[in-house]
Amino acid sequence: MSATVRYDLPEADDFTRPYWDAAAAGRLLLRRCADCGRAHHYPREFCPFCWAGEDRVTWETASGRATLYTWSVIHRNDLPPFGTRVPYTAAVVDLAEGPRMMTEVVDCEAPELRIGMPLTVTFREAADGVWVAVFRPAPD
Ligand SMILES: [Zn+2]
Repeated sequence: MSATVRYDLPEADDFTRPYWDAAAAGRLLLRRCADCGRAHHYPREFCPFCWAGEDRVTWETASGRATLYTWSVIHRNDLPPFGTRVPYTAAVVDLAEGPRMMTEVVDCEAPELRIGMPLTVTFREAADGVWVAVFRPAPD
């Protein structure tokens, strides 16, 4: 039997390697532009706001704080391995540094989800050595 295809694993390249290495170490990285000062996510070589080049945009460690912008509780997903995780909460969060990020909210029952609720980043090992950023309710 052949290995099951997975649709949840990143394909890191030379540019995104620092992001995935940091995630494996429990840190969420953002990119920030030295010209306009804005942070962005997902990571791009250039600034998506002012088009400053890669020599003006650098990695920085995010605070890990965010608020919930919107979400959807997923009850069916035929793409492996998501079907083994249902129900789960796919979400878009606003990072404290500004960027909006696609992610998942964990450790929170659906009735407890609220727009604007404070969240904090945590990391889940999706495969051997591959960690992805997810968010859970911030401690009081
Ligand atoms: Zn910029």
